[in-house]
Amino acid sequence: MAQTTEGAGLSAKLLSRYAGPCPRYTSYPTADRFAPLGDAEPWRGLAEARSLSLYIHIPFCRSLCYFCACNKVITQQYGLAASYLEQVLQEARWYRQRVQAPVVQLHLGGGTPTFLSDADLRRLIGELGQIFDLRGGDAAEYSIEADPRGLDVDTLDTLRALGFNRLSLGIQDFNGAVQHAVNRVCSAESVAQLTEAARARGFTSISYDLIYGLPQQTVASLERTLERVLELAPDRIALYHYAHLPHRFKAQRLIDTDRIPAPQETIAMQLAAVSRLVGAGYEFLGMDHFARPGDALAVAARAGRLARNFQGYTLMPADALVGLGASAISYSGDGYWQNAHRLKDYAAAIAARGTAVNRGWLLDDDDRLRQWLIAELMCRLRLDKGEFARRAGRPFDDYFHAERGRLQPLLADGLLVEDATSLNVTERGRWFLRNAAAAFDRYLHGAPSGARYSRVL
Ligand code: SF4
Repeated sequence: MAQTTEGAGLSAKLLSRYAGPCPRYTSYPTADRFAPLGDAEPWRGLAEARSLSLYIHIPFCRSLCYFCACNKVITQQYGLAASYLEQVLQEARWYRQRVQAPVVQLHLGGGTPTFLSDADLRRLIGELGQIFDLRGGDAAEYSIEADPRGLDVDTLDTLRALGFNRLSLGIQDFNGAVQHAVNRVCSAESVAQLTEAARARGFTSISYDLIYGLPQQTVASLERTLERVLELAPDRIALYHYAHLPHRFKAQRLIDTDRIPAPQETIAMQLAAVSRLVGAGYEFLGMDHFARPGDALAVAARAGRLARNFQGYTLMPADALVGLGASAISYSGDGYWQNAHRLKDYAAAIAARGTAVNRGWLLDDDDRLRQWLIAELMCRLRLDKGEFARRAGRPFDDYFHAERGRLQPLLADGLLVEDATSLNVTERGRWFLRNAAAAFDRYLHGAPSGARYSRVL
């Protein structure tokens, strides 16, 4: 059945009821719970992995976007990137004896991965291929986050030759006033040319990142941006809500708060954008992500084969993730571990120990059950109570007795439906997956409240 906002019963009232701060659940427990590991070594679990995802964080950017919440370094000095690559490769070598699984997924994120010169991109992937089992080819997902400003077609050639088949372009908004208000000016024409060039070179999936709730944005201006986006027809769209947290992200202090749309206006933007995208035939996958019906993610969603990792929804769930670079997170079946955040701490740790891990989390049995449950709700929109009982050794209703009170409003609002054998996310509930997951987050409810997470709206 075609998705519609009306069909889903999505209203401003419902959106505002669930608009409070809430984690995005790219991991469970969420990364803000990570703590010093002591003697624990969750990377030991890498030895059991049969498939691997590899993430490389490239933190450099040439200019500051005022909405930015990423771990980045603004610089014009290319020399910083050259020494950073050395450290990343040194860190990769630390993993050489610890993991043998083939890499089914490689992702370059940032920052701006396309800050790197073509020669350094070649060197990075070439040397990683000496350390890890990089299979490449269409059976693997190689993706990169690219900044369309300053990206040229020669770099697209380089990326394709290195095996990249998925391109994510940071658009945010095409409106000039919005672009100036956030210091990220980029023409729609250049995005159109890059999109066409990437398609011609065989990138099988092109994704745009868009943001609503930015300063100077209005429902009308956003609709014009979406009109242009729909003409360019990217395979996937990630539509994020701008989370204004200036106490956490210094860059956001440069945003004139008077120009940020009011919450009601932001909700109207979300409703308008969602209605526009689903009206144009995009399928809503959940968690801000849309895809054209023929895109592999949409096909996988319909077949109940979606998985989720730190980059969002994915087709190829790997058993483990190795994250290289400052602030990168890794995981294995045993738990999570994260590198030092600041560049200088990362560099010092790599020089001293070959690794820059400084915190993480060892999973216990309860964590694993909740991690599995949250993934089921977010990816398959259904929880099989029988399967849960088999894993837990206890019935679902008994295990989650204490959570009942938190589930009740979600059931009453028709976001979840429950029977004796399953808990299901409704069509309306797909827009509130974060809230459904949060009901099962043991740590969230034991913690002091506050604006440590972005608001859902
Ligand atoms: S939004 Fe992207 S390009 Fe802009 S400063 Fe942040 S990481 Fe860099």
